[in-house]
Amino acid sequence: MRIEVINTGTELVLGNTLNTHGAWFGRELFKLGLRIERQTTVPDGDAIRESLSEAVSRADVVIVTGGLGPTSDDLTREVTAEVLAIELIMDQAVLTGLEHFFAIRNRPMADANRKQALVPVGADVLPNPNGTAPGVYVPPRLNGRGHAAVFLLPGPPRELHPMFREEVIPRLRALAGGEVAAGCSELKFTGVGESDFHQGIDARLAEIEGLEIGYCAHVGEVDLRLIGTEEARAAGREIALAEFGQFLINEDGRSLEETVIRLFAAKGWTIATAESCTGGLISSRLTDVAGSSAVFTHGFITYANEAKRDVLGVDEALLQRHGAVSEEVARAMAEGALRVSGASAAVAVTGIAGPGGGTDEKPVGTVWLAWAVKGGATKAIRGFHPRNRKDFKLAVSQGALDGLRRLVLE
Ligand code: AMP
Ligand code: MG
Repeated sequence: MRIEVINTGTELVLGNTLNTHGAWFGRELFKLGLRIERQTTVPDGDAIRESLSEAVSRADVVIVTGGLGPTSDDLTREVTAEVLAIELIMDQAVLTGLEHFFAIRNRPMADANRKQALVPVGADVLPNPNGTAPGVYVPPRLNGRGHAAVFLLPGPPRELHPMFREEVIPRLRALAGGEVAAGCSELKFTGVGESDFHQGIDARLAEIEGLEIGYCAHVGEVDLRLIGTEEARAAGREIALAEFGQFLINEDGRSLEETVIRLFAAKGWTIATAESCTGGLISSRLTDVAGSSAVFTHGFITYANEAKRDVLGVDEALLQRHGAVSEEVARAMAEGALRVSGASAAVAVTGIAGPGGGTDEKPVGTVWLAWAVKGGATKAIRGFHPRNRKDFKLAVSQGALDGLRRLVLE
């Protein structure tokens, strides 16, 4: 089933409002095993006519959002009737509903609102319990032009989303008939790059019948998407895990920080952080997770040498001899945080975000990470992320959290 989505609204093309419908429809439709073939964003006015004419001649289903309001730039209803060559008539039940909407709110109804009760002859009215603009469904073959089924839906997300679930999904299911829903698996990895996948397993995955693969790379993370039948996805998963299993964060769509909190909570362990170059990002990510209070106890942001010395007890001589960005200081920070907090594990990071401050020996992007655990040996590794400050911090926090995850698994 070919589905096209047209998002209308001048505010969307001016950049005043982020077009969240695009991503939202993509996700919701995919859950039904359906996909968007084309998505268009147009300003209010004549552009709607042109893109709708094209879409109805190409697609099986056209979903239009926005422009159902009472103002002069809300023209979706009128333009659709014109393009499909169907007359608009005043729907008495809708008009009564609108009058009621205003009456119970003790507000006078403007004349302009009357046009919201105009409905193409033969179309279904989709009730809108959350606003004044009802949606419209024009079934296929009702119109003279093309054969697409057309949905007109309100722009505000809080009106659109319930209407989509209540009114649109059942109609889409009926239109799709026996179309099977392909499943989707998402495997999240960290510590390996996209190019590792290309070299390592891409060719083998491509050989699997009925499997569609996709990658999505973020800072410090690669998501592998497998779409297809259950067998095809299982075969793809097996290949990916055989090669990169040790880098797998999870397969349940959760973030790395949520994975860490859950693993620690299951063990009854706690975490403290000692952050220099990340400025609190690691603690911030951990505390984004609901339930983190059972796990996260202390976050030390020790940016200056004095802070590392006074708060974490890092030896002044170590700082002088090795510098703040060094294995010795990272280890001392982690062990200091562990001692001061009494947590089960502590992670420490110290690095050079740049753009200044680099040397030949320690160029910008250099970072030392260390993990200390109660009753265990402290571990440290050197990382190198020559990026802008924001991405540098994100990459370092990713490494720090992944190290915590590995502590539990080891
Ligand atoms: P409308 O139905 O065209 O009157 O849209 C009303 C409001 O809905 C707009 O002012 C936006 O705040 C919101 N809206 C419309 N389209 C979108 C969209 N594609 N993504 C996010 N918000 C939207
Ligand atoms: Mg609008």
